[in-house]
Amino acid sequence: MATYIVLLGPPGVGKGTQARILSETKKLAHISSGDLFRENIKNQTELGKVVKSYLDKGELVPDDVTIAMIRDRLSRPDCEAGAILDGFPRTPAQAEALEAMLKDFKGSVDAVPYITAAENVLIERASGRWTCKANGHIYHEKFNPPKQAGICDIDGSEVYQREDDKAETVSKRIHVYLEQTMPLVDHYRKAGKLVEVDGTLAVDQVTKTLFDKLKK
Ligand code: ADP
Ligand code: ADP
Repeated sequence: MATYIVLLGPPGVGKGTQARILSETKKLAHISSGDLFRENIKNQTELGKVVKSYLDKGELVPDDVTIAMIRDRLSRPDCEAGAILDGFPRTPAQAEALEAMLKDFKGSVDAVPYITAAENVLIERASGRWTCKANGHIYHEKFNPPKQAGICDIDGSEVYQREDDKAETVSKRIHVYLEQTMPLVDHYRKAGKLVEVDGTLAVDQVTKTLFDKLKK
């Protein structure tokens, strides 16, 4: 049966960083809703045109649009063994839709690592984040700078600061998270799927906690 892991946590806590590591180790597709939206914006697709203003403002894209995009992504062949979902679901309606679509794929949400850190940590991380243009590889100006300034170590493309990683928009995104996504913590706790991980420590220590707790 396919394995599906949902990463839950506020903006900037380190979901994308841990999702990449989990995806490589567990040989599961990494599905980042934010990366998919940014790819569509970059390629000026119809979807990209619809979602751009939401990302710019730090607001959530409407559920129907987001759910359709994820359903399409999950039905591709590289997701046959399952996937690491990073940034989806973010609302109760999305969580419900996910459960329904995973039934079609003969699976269900297996575990939900919930990564947390204090708000000042989130702001420092998100506002120092640099993202690679070609593939969304993640860096931090202080905690994980690329070897050569401005250039992605992995694919040599340019790294840039996301428009929505300005301190003001980060605060807005945290607010949106508290209002719209926090209910999912309770939802997955009640379902016995929540795996709480302190995201405050360095990347490799967070990874270690995450893997140790997932084994149990
Ligand atoms: P999210 O996907 O939750 O928004 P990211 O994985 O993109 O978070 O991480 C946000 C920023 O913080 C990035 O610049 C990343 O390099 C950095 N980062 C991630 N995890 C840690 C950590 N444990 N310690 C320090 N910096 C981190
Ligand atoms: P972060 O990991 O730092 O929180 P993301 O890259 O996941 O940022 O998301 C960036 C933006 O993409 C969000 O502010 C929102 O506009 C949009 N987005 C991403 N995932 C979703 C989702 N599941 N539902 C609605 N909007 C989303």
